[in-house]
Amino acid sequence: MPIKPLCAYCGNSENLKSHQVREMMFVTGEEFLYVECPNCGSLTLCDVPDDLSPYYPKEYYSFLPLVKSSIGKNVLKEMRYGLYKMTGKNFLSPVFGEWFDRIKPAKSAKIGDLGCGNGQLLYEMYAAGFKDLRGFDPFIESDFRLGNKLSLQKKTIFEVDGKYDVLMLHHALEHMPDPIKVLEYCFGLLNSKGHLLIRVPVSDAKVWKDEGVAWVQLDAPRHLHLPSVKGLNNLAKQVGFECKEVAFDSTGFQFWGTELVKMGKPLSKVEDTAVFSRQDLARWRKKAHLYNKKSVGDQASFYFYKP
Ligand SMILES: [Zn+2]
Repeated sequence: MPIKPLCAYCGNSENLKSHQVREMMFVTGEEFLYVECPNCGSLTLCDVPDDLSPYYPKEYYSFLPLVKSSIGKNVLKEMRYGLYKMTGKNFLSPVFGEWFDRIKPAKSAKIGDLGCGNGQLLYEMYAAGFKDLRGFDPFIESDFRLGNKLSLQKKTIFEVDGKYDVLMLHHALEHMPDPIKVLEYCFGLLNSKGHLLIRVPVSDAKVWKDEGVAWVQLDAPRHLHLPSVKGLNNLAKQVGFECKEVAFDSTGFQFWGTELVKMGKPLSKVEDTAVFSRQDLARWRKKAHLYNKKSVGDQASFYFYKP
């Protein structure tokens, strides 16, 4: 007998709405069943393939090499980050500026990036003067270290140990089974007064309401679940976190990616000016900004806090 589907975020099994979603990154022609929860609005993949590895071919993980900058350039990056913190001027912001504005970690804070890829984000933090950076990713080729300040290790989240002041999951949670186990494990890894930053696609997206199963960030079957803001906040609260803020950070990708899905074209990760006009791409970037303001963009940053 098939197992009764449950919402991955609130556990509800009643009145779930079914959606057949096509694999859209490589256009394999396969379809997968997702259920939408009427309680919290989250989406859960029901028929998870026994072996997901064919959906993560080598090119998916062919991380670009980490780009290191010169010592002189790193001195400038640290000065620039100092100026940014003093002035708040956007043009001075490093890639992590907005997140750290809210979290305000000390330079000595122990920071972990779960699903760190090539580690470029941690490297930019290192360049800005952070001193205790740890990245983990089961798909990197080998471990990497820069003195005591930065290390990358080939590990899954559940192999991580130690205590952290800040943990980050950038578009990683939706690829991991059992979001509650991930949140509980992160809670255990954090020091009290620690911060957990989670960036994920969210089903509050207007593009999901408007375009349905063509929504590019469904990404069947790699995205095992897609929370609503309500669904993820409730789950985090259940684990013991306080939610400090949810900031929508969607981009034009939700529009041009969804257009590619509708055309039946495989996805590229960068704006393709051979397919879309520069005017359209600019219009979509503007529209994403507007959607974020209205809390209907298709992805968000969650700032959780361990009291
Ligand atoms: Zn639910």
